[in-house]
Amino acid sequence: MSARRDLATLDLSTEPLSHLAGVGPRVAAKLETRGLSTLQDLWLHLPLRYEDRTTLLPIRALKAGMAAQVEGRVEAVERGFRYRPVLRVAISDDSGATLVLRFFHFRAAQVAQFAVGRRLRAYGTPRAGQQGLEIVHPSYHMLGDGEDALLGELLDPVYPAVEGIGPASLRKLIGQALDRLPAAAALELLPPAFLAGMGLPSLRDALLTMHRPPADADIAALGAGTHPAQRRLAMEELLAHHLSLRRQRIALQQHRAPALRGRDGLVKALRESLPFKLTGAQQRVFDEIRKDLARAHPMLRLVQGDVGSGKTVVAALAAMLAVERGKQVALAAPTELLAEQHLNNLRSWLEPLDVRVAWLAGKVTGKARAKVLEDVASGHAQVVVGTHALMQDSVVFNDLALAIVDEQHRFGVHQRLALRDKGATAGVVPHQLVMTATPIPRTLAMASYSDLDVSAIDELPPGRTPVQTIAISAERRPELVERIRVACQQGRQVYWVCTLIEESEEDAGPGNARMDAQAAQTTFETLSAQLPELRIGLVHGRMKAAEKQAAMRAFKQAETDLLVATTVIEVGVDVPNASLMIIENAERLGLAQLHQLRGRVGRGATASSCVLMYQAPLSAMARERLETMRLTNDGFLIAEKDLELRGPGELLGTRQTGLAAFRVADLARDAGLLPTVHDLAERLLSDAPDLADRIVRRWIGGAVRYASA
Ligand code: ADP
Ligand code: MG
Repeated sequence: MSARRDLATLDLSTEPLSHLAGVGPRVAAKLETRGLSTLQDLWLHLPLRYEDRTTLLPIRALKAGMAAQVEGRVEAVERGFRYRPVLRVAISDDSGATLVLRFFHFRAAQVAQFAVGRRLRAYGTPRAGQQGLEIVHPSYHMLGDGEDALLGELLDPVYPAVEGIGPASLRKLIGQALDRLPAAAALELLPPAFLAGMGLPSLRDALLTMHRPPADADIAALGAGTHPAQRRLAMEELLAHHLSLRRQRIALQQHRAPALRGRDGLVKALRESLPFKLTGAQQRVFDEIRKDLARAHPMLRLVQGDVGSGKTVVAALAAMLAVERGKQVALAAPTELLAEQHLNNLRSWLEPLDVRVAWLAGKVTGKARAKVLEDVASGHAQVVVGTHALMQDSVVFNDLALAIVDEQHRFGVHQRLALRDKGATAGVVPHQLVMTATPIPRTLAMASYSDLDVSAIDELPPGRTPVQTIAISAERRPELVERIRVACQQGRQVYWVCTLIEESEEDAGPGNARMDAQAAQTTFETLSAQLPELRIGLVHGRMKAAEKQAAMRAFKQAETDLLVATTVIEVGVDVPNASLMIIENAERLGLAQLHQLRGRVGRGATASSCVLMYQAPLSAMARERLETMRLTNDGFLIAEKDLELRGPGELLGTRQTGLAAFRVADLARDAGLLPTVHDLAERLLSDAPDLADRIVRRWIGGAVRYASA
């Protein structure tokens, strides 16, 4: 590859968009908010879907649910307010049928356009309305009198919107960027022999196909994301991510870490003092950790274990390996309540062994805080348990050898790295153990965590009775109230989880803190009236942190019988006496969330139940989700199903995990490409590291740091 060609490609791909016609500072700033700052960013800003404007359909031939383009004359215009402003425009064509175009958002100028008798073309997906078929918010354009607009020769791409830039302008900009695409050979980073072997197009051809698909393109394949052009792009993108993760792993392995080979005295003492025997899975995972820690290179291991699988004790055992060598351990949890639970466990296990456990959370202030900081800095504190407070600059360790992060997906990447860096000196970094109760399907783990080692605690401690799950319609709510009364009379505790029902298309779904809080408040009041003999607590996202914690703590200490909560209730909170959970509007929640919530019950020896209450009628997807929940308690199976139903983007949110979102690739769909991607990555890393660099830079840039860094 000649140096000149390299330069040409690099120059173009990194060329700022301000060089395009129509891009001044204001437009550039708007594009920037979407991460679009170079020509290459526009090349990779790919269509969400396509509109087929190469043909016109007679209005009579329209079918509900099938997108189509029609042409007609305005017959009637009606503007009204029922619950909100609405504009209805009836059009008809020579086929004699009528179609209604319905708008909820519109400007006065738009209304004026629709004069009776004017011709227009509209595109959209019709649905059955009150007066026959209608299209809500079609895309349309007016035709001049006698104007015989040509039909398109290409399928029209529809791009992800950029706020403040109209779709037509965006398309023009992308068109300009595409006109400057370099020749295939100059743009290509994948080995041509590899592409030929896979039957995949060059990057240039793939991009042109995606942005300007010919009228005869396989639109079904494009819609399904299985077109060779998409596979080609997905391949390169997955490759870029994998390479970047491999790089980071290699970089981490360049560092040294304290080799924690102990005499095992404390480990043995802890094991013997536990009131239970480790499960086989706990033992196996601990052995894996012990092997890692004995090496003079940093461990980076993710322990996945379903809720209640007993990750804490494994972490405690690992901590003993460090303490035995005179080193310190940090254990961070995402909320004060969870951290406090760890503190209580660790104190009860470790203090009898004369291990000093310190506590650092936001509410530890003043003199107490100064004392903790001093103990941490002097090395007097051997195990330090806490929240985000552990990651602050003022916290300095004497000799941190192991950083443990629980529920790691709820921390920002930077926070975890900040904790790790507290033990870093002169090329030596601490070992890291991250734990999660969110099971990650194998394919996802392969792609997202290929730079860290994964252990699974795939067995629950004995004596747990699996949670019985039933799904019932909300009409049967009165029966549930009785059931709660009975459970509480028997000394059990109950969770009632509220989510909001969507009232119209525009309302936010569950997760909208304000609406959810309102729903919880209302339910709290209703249940308080119906069950006056019970002590009822309330937790929702709009309460102050201290109030939330107080309500959770009261429930944990059995001072309340029934806890009405939104989905904010804590992951990992252990209340073994809670044996009934009711989830309202369960059809609105994803599988992962349902599984996490259900994990709050079934933690004691009593048989527990989970009632999924739904609003009929159920969509096919919702029915499948509830059915999956009913049939299995296995977090890994549920995660696989979730991946299949929802796709990975939602499974691991970008912001939370630090995992970059994919532009083209879809792990559920493209998992089959991974083995090839992995092979090619190894070849590039050894034979063409400069190409590997450029592939990473093209897709990821320098900015992204991963969950697993
Ligand atoms: P999680 O993996 O969800 O963090 P925890 O570590 O909180 O689970 O453990 C859940 C409960 O199970 C705790 O009360 C813990 O003491 C108990 N436990 C852990 N391991 C075992 C075991 N091998 N046998 C019996 N109980 C156990
Ligand atoms: Mg836990």
